[in-house]
Amino acid sequence: MTAIGDQSGRRIAIIGAGFSGSLLALHLLRRCRPEDRIYLVERNQNFGRGLAYATGNPNHLLNVRAGNMSAFPDEPDHFVRWLQNLPADQRAEIGDPNVANLGASTFVPRRVYGNYIQELLGDKIWREGQSHNLFLLTDEAVALHRDSDGLSLELAVGRRYPIDHAVLAVGNFPPTASTPGYFGDPWNPACLDGLAPDAPVLILGTGLTFIDTVLSLLDRGHTGKIYALSRRGLLPRVHAAVPAPWKYEAPPSGRNLVKLLRQVRTIARIAEKTGAGRRAAIDGLRPHTQRLWQEMSLPERARFLRHLRPWWDVHRHRAAPQVMARIEAAIAAGQIEIIKGRIGETTRLDETSVVHVNLRGDSGRRELVVDRVIDCSGPRSDATRLDQKLIQQLLASGQVRPDPLRLGLDVDPAGNVIDRQGHVTPDLHAIGPITKGTFWEIIAVPDLRIACAALAERLL
Ligand SMILES: Cc1cc2nc3c(=O)[nH]c(=O)nc-3n(C[C@H](O)[C@H](O)[C@H](O)COP(=O)(O)OP(=O)(O)OC[C@H]3O[C@@H](n4cnc5c(N)ncnc54)[C@H](O)[C@@H]3O)c2cc1C
Repeated sequence: MTAIGDQSGRRIAIIGAGFSGSLLALHLLRRCRPEDRIYLVERNQNFGRGLAYATGNPNHLLNVRAGNMSAFPDEPDHFVRWLQNLPADQRAEIGDPNVANLGASTFVPRRVYGNYIQELLGDKIWREGQSHNLFLLTDEAVALHRDSDGLSLELAVGRRYPIDHAVLAVGNFPPTASTPGYFGDPWNPACLDGLAPDAPVLILGTGLTFIDTVLSLLDRGHTGKIYALSRRGLLPRVHAAVPAPWKYEAPPSGRNLVKLLRQVRTIARIAEKTGAGRRAAIDGLRPHTQRLWQEMSLPERARFLRHLRPWWDVHRHRAAPQVMARIEAAIAAGQIEIIKGRIGETTRLDETSVVHVNLRGDSGRRELVVDRVIDCSGPRSDATRLDQKLIQQLLASGQVRPDPLRLGLDVDPAGNVIDRQGHVTPDLHAIGPITKGTFWEIIAVPDLRIACAALAERLL
């Protein structure tokens, strides 16, 4: 193995260049000295996009309005201004070349957002000349080592980089492996390859990933039946045509889940009466959510996950109105059928799968014959059940441990990783969805951008 890197300046490795890793790099570049080195490591070629913004489908829209998607918390209209300054041909890509219509309430294609992050990175490196600070490493990080020389990062090719800090910005854990007829990774375009347009398909899950998959099917002219299975059959709610901001007069407390639920329900009723709509009760919680989660005891958090999470997910993670209209039309036409239940045993025959579904409550069983099962039930979060090299190495060496609810990795409220013995590791940090156990509301841009700015400030 080769040891690379000089000893002057601070050396920070960011593992993962999706939104979180890329934005953290940008914030570090704003603050670093000429001799500092930031290694941004990404196993894909697509720096700046991550899973969410790599989609090539222009109908996969952001589920957050443009006005809330600025990369910088201190410049809230940064993204909207960027959109409005796009050349006409790129504005046309968004579907509405009229610049006056590209405002804060627009839901733009996710790939356009990926262009935005990539452009920000490119500007810092090429236009502002910070290529001597930022090193883009296209490879998989496979291990972090600690020895008498300190911390070092190992890449799959075998190179080692001595570093002072490492940040895990690896996004959601990878999905389950596919088997014949079963596609564990709904983001892999291959899951629709070769599918006959009239073939029946079963989608596991009825959340936003189910919606993306249905859009991809409809866009390629799919006419076959689409079954969608989830425990409660709940679909994401739709965003209001015009958002109605809401502020909780009495700041809610997370110490008692039942009281909190009662308070939210009361606010929802009031908001409904005033015309703001029930969604306002959830939106108004946003500035409080991380605190509420941290105020909850562990058993209360577990209760929330067991009983309330499905409701929370559909109210909190909503779809753009134009997206939901297509889904509702396909349901009304009978092409999509939502089934409440759990998947039972599945038998793969030559070209089809026979899937037994245990229907919710006492409704018995049902047999579905489908060409494909596509798993859109959400990312895995139990670190101990993954086959990802880096996470396994970190677990095995005791440098990280899963959080108590198995939502990701255990970190303290500053984002420092907690090791197997329960000690805070001051040179190992995590950001993004894997820190859900500590923050809960930490998967979307409005929260991640704050976390990135704060971590950059602490690191430099
Ligand atoms: C389909 C989808 C749509 C979404 N839409 C929105 C939206 O509209 N608005 C919003 O605010 N949020 C949205 N989100 C939430 C989204 O999670 C965040 O906005 C954000 O993209 C998360 O970024 P991340 O960098 O933490 O994770 P990711 O984007 O997943 O990036 C992690 C990166 O780390 C890399 N990586 C992982 N392990 C290694 C390793 N060992 N070595 C090297 N590289 C590695 C991966 O290849 C990946 O590129 C969406 C999420 C998904 C999945």
